[in-house]
Amino acid sequence: MERYREQQLKIYNSLTKQKEVFKPITEGYVGMYVCGPTVYSNAHLGNVRTFMFFDVLYRYLLHLGYKVRYVRNITDAGHLENDADEGEDRIAKKARLEQIEPMEVVQMYTVDFHNVLKNYNFLPPSIEPTATGHIVEQIEMIKDIISKGFAYEVNGSVYFDVLEYNKNGNYGILSGRKIEDLIHNTRTLDGQSDKKNPQDFALWKKADERHIMRWPSPWSDGFPGWHLECSVMSTKYLGEQFDIHGGGMDLKFPHHECEIAQSQTCSGLKPVNYWMHTNMLLLNSQKMAKSTGNFILPNEILTGENPILPKPFSASVVRFFNMQANYRSILDFSGEALEASEKGHAKLMEAVSYLNIAEAGKVSTFDVKAWTQSCYDAMNDDFNTPILISQLFEAVKVINQIKEQKVSLTSEDLAVFNETINAFVFDVLGLMNETSKESSNKINGVIELLIKLRKEARENKDFALSDQIRNELVALGIQLKDGREGTTFSVN
Ligand SMILES: [Zn+2]
Repeated sequence: MERYREQQLKIYNSLTKQKEVFKPITEGYVGMYVCGPTVYSNAHLGNVRTFMFFDVLYRYLLHLGYKVRYVRNITDAGHLENDADEGEDRIAKKARLEQIEPMEVVQMYTVDFHNVLKNYNFLPPSIEPTATGHIVEQIEMIKDIISKGFAYEVNGSVYFDVLEYNKNGNYGILSGRKIEDLIHNTRTLDGQSDKKNPQDFALWKKADERHIMRWPSPWSDGFPGWHLECSVMSTKYLGEQFDIHGGGMDLKFPHHECEIAQSQTCSGLKPVNYWMHTNMLLLNSQKMAKSTGNFILPNEILTGENPILPKPFSASVVRFFNMQANYRSILDFSGEALEASEKGHAKLMEAVSYLNIAEAGKVSTFDVKAWTQSCYDAMNDDFNTPILISQLFEAVKVINQIKEQKVSLTSEDLAVFNETINAFVFDVLGLMNETSKESSNKINGVIELLIKLRKEARENKDFALSDQIRNELVALGIQLKDGREGTTFSVN
């Protein structure tokens, strides 16, 4: 359904610092790139917040009827310590410390990342490209930038010439940093003497003998600079210009600033129409840090295996909690806040379940159409999930009034009400009704028990009882099927 024709979506663009009407380059299609994780450690809760927001954004675009190509990369090479141009590769360092292959590190933490996202009910992106899978394309882009006069080679390494770019370009357009300040503030570290200017950044680095992750290139055996992969992979899969580019706000500078400079140099075009950045996540009002113990892994929230939390919480409660804050606000994560969310989540789920069995009345005394539009209005206003949730709680109130027969809805309105609330709760916010999952597990157990009793009845030649079990299950919409492996069932 092409709902986008009726809804006017506005997006806060970090580039222009204002909300703009969203108009994709090609009508009905959206190209979206989100910077993915560097897979050298367990998935970080702060990153999960970012990816969860973009998951909801992706879900909403799909709900509006857009055909979306969502690209989220995996950084498996080139990302050095401190996001710098000097120092050890994060993955290679982990491999050295653990005495395993770098690709074992990559595999281990890619699996962990996917596992976390699956637990939290993320939709997979359309393409998940890796840096190491695009070395050839990265070398090609460097050649292109050199040929255009915006990069230079020194001792086997290639650097982007920021001052040259800035003659006609605008380095700092996204982050608001001024080139004069950058020159002033960039420290000259040992080994950076290769650069003409300290604000230049690496496109290719020559690998020293200890650096194990290396590839041949026209300049040296080495590895690509961290910023390059995103320009290369976004261009390859989404084109020289695409609609949405997202990431955490810590990536604005230098990472996204460098992406713009690289891509614009190659194509001469503004690469991205809407830049979107999520704010940071605090844990108990403080920055999360392993060193201080103020730290939790996303999967530990589900198991409760961390002293920071009083008990485990379900993935759906965590999603609900995340969506109660606007993505551009700081989110403060804590056990108490999760407990409060858990209560709200349970109320919402109870109401949603009741709506499935609510009975229609002769007239409608509640304006379902206006309420439905208010849900769209919330999401159309730069994906304002806290406002959407407050609208869902308006619906909870109404559902309770239906229960008490204070409000009635015609069957037509009831169907729309049910459909809309289900769409926003499950399809858009990606919440899960765990109580229904739990109760369906119990029902399955009961059916298995009846199958066992029926088998015993047949063995005792009590066919009256075995037929009765079968027929009464059929009457409830449960079909039994006898096969060589035993009896299975299906629920209609
Ligand atoms: Zn990136």
